[in-house]
Amino acid sequence: MEKFFDQKITCLICNHEHKTKKVKSRYIRPLSHDTDFCSTYDSNDTNPLLYYVSVCPDCGYSSTEQFGVSFPPGTQEAIKNKIQKHWQKKDYGQIRTVATAINAYKLAIYTGILKKEAPIVMSGLYLRLAWIFRTVEKNTVQEKRFLKLAAEQLELSYTLGDFEQTEMSEIKLLYLIGELHTRLDNNRQAVRFFQLVIQHKDKNKERSLVEKSRNRWYDMRSKQKQLQA
Ligand SMILES: [Zn+2]
Repeated sequence: MEKFFDQKITCLICNHEHKTKKVKSRYIRPLSHDTDFCSTYDSNDTNPLLYYVSVCPDCGYSSTEQFGVSFPPGTQEAIKNKIQKHWQKKDYGQIRTVATAINAYKLAIYTGILKKEAPIVMSGLYLRLAWIFRTVEKNTVQEKRFLKLAAEQLELSYTLGDFEQTEMSEIKLLYLIGELHTRLDNNRQAVRFFQLVIQHKDKNKERSLVEKSRNRWYDMRSKQKQLQA
């Protein structure tokens, strides 16, 4: 049985039409979920994290479904100069190894930086790449490196408000920032963001995340008190 389907994509830089593979939803089998919404899957073969990014085989422009369709002034030229000019044709539209998938993420991160993509979109790339390092590669150093970049972009998104255009609610955003700081051992920052969730004006709308934040907040406060005692 075919576990993948091909999604058609028209490149926004060179107009080339190409395909990228996606795992069919019935084959996506998460075994467990972490507190930062990371899922572990039963097999690398059908791990949807490996197919999040699409890469144009003709010019190297790399993106996700979250990327915006417009380009701020000068960014198309920057992508053409820094990526297309040096691109050696490679087809990412096939079954991917973990190494190929990680490469695709790095290409999309570079493209996103040149494109001045919204922080909420960049955070999605950094976070998923961190999850691959946690659940597939078991590489804590690389995991933390990308969690830190994800936390920075999420905080920027909170400041600029670009998440309001997406499915991410403010409470979920604040909770996630708190979670990432917990994992990065930034306890004071974690407490600060969990507190913003607990006191949020919409706290009655997302009770489960507020409850989780409250528990986390108590844990961290008692840890701080133990350290001070
Ligand atoms: Zn292209």
